[in-house]
Amino acid sequence: MKSTLLIAAGLALFTTVAGAQQRVHLPITNQDWLKPFPAFKIVGNLYYVGTYDLGCYLISTRDGLILINSGAPGSYPLIKANIESLGFKLTDIKLITSTHGHWDHVGDIAALQKASGGARVLMNERDADVLESGGNIDWRNPKGRGIIYDPIHVDRRLKDGDKITLGETQLTVHFSPGHTKGATSFTLPVKDGARTYNVLIANMPGINAGVHLLGSPGYPNMAQDFAYTIADLKKYSPDIWVSSHAGQFNLHQVYKPGDPYNPARFGDLAAYKAKVEGYDQAYHKQLAEEQAKTE
Ligand SMILES: [Zn+2]
Repeated sequence: MKSTLLIAAGLALFTTVAGAQQRVHLPITNQDWLKPFPAFKIVGNLYYVGTYDLGCYLISTRDGLILINSGAPGSYPLIKANIESLGFKLTDIKLITSTHGHWDHVGDIAALQKASGGARVLMNERDADVLESGGNIDWRNPKGRGIIYDPIHVDRRLKDGDKITLGETQLTVHFSPGHTKGATSFTLPVKDGARTYNVLIANMPGINAGVHLLGSPGYPNMAQDFAYTIADLKKYSPDIWVSSHAGQFNLHQVYKPGDPYNPARFGDLAAYKAKVEGYDQAYHKQLAEEQAKTE
């Protein structure tokens, strides 16, 4: 009886709090998001801890761990297993951030933050509200589409050029808007023996299906933002580069589980330039098509 009452009270609370913002379950159709992929060392203190397709990065410092991206809702057990397989503990995660506020990169930040016992969440100021709403409200869904992941409290809202420092590691925040308003790339120097590598964690300027560069009332300057990001990413000549999705940095072409440690496999500068060029061409093709329709 007592437990029935408690459940009833809990349901009533949920309905009241949630109101119009009901929790909705979005099915994941891309099986590569869900497939496990073993963690491995990219270079120095930088590790890949994501799934087969969802790029998640762990940086180990003398003062604890920085995690970039969580995967989608439900990725938590895979990311946890990957972090632990490297000999690290979730309770050593001190900072969590993300390359952009879409559910396939932030969906389990809340779970990882909870498991860490108090990691601070840092997010681009332009995507922070999306995370705090649990993915309910973004520019495509100004009235809300329902909460699609556990809402995340953002402890620090990042500005372009900000530094994220933990132990001996310092990341620089670079706004890469367009894919979302607050898409973000990070650069960091990584030491490995006598050499220091300039690492770029790039958020590639991909245009999602169904998104219009022109005439999107929730994001009127999107086309300019994409142009800015493409021009900015063209300026980089990283020693090592990775990205938000495995396919965006050719992960499965250059690395197979069990391959020996070799940072150079992620250092193909011509491949980086070609990748950015491909996004540039796709952007200009879509822009021209949209402009032709409106003329
Ligand atoms: Zn995305």
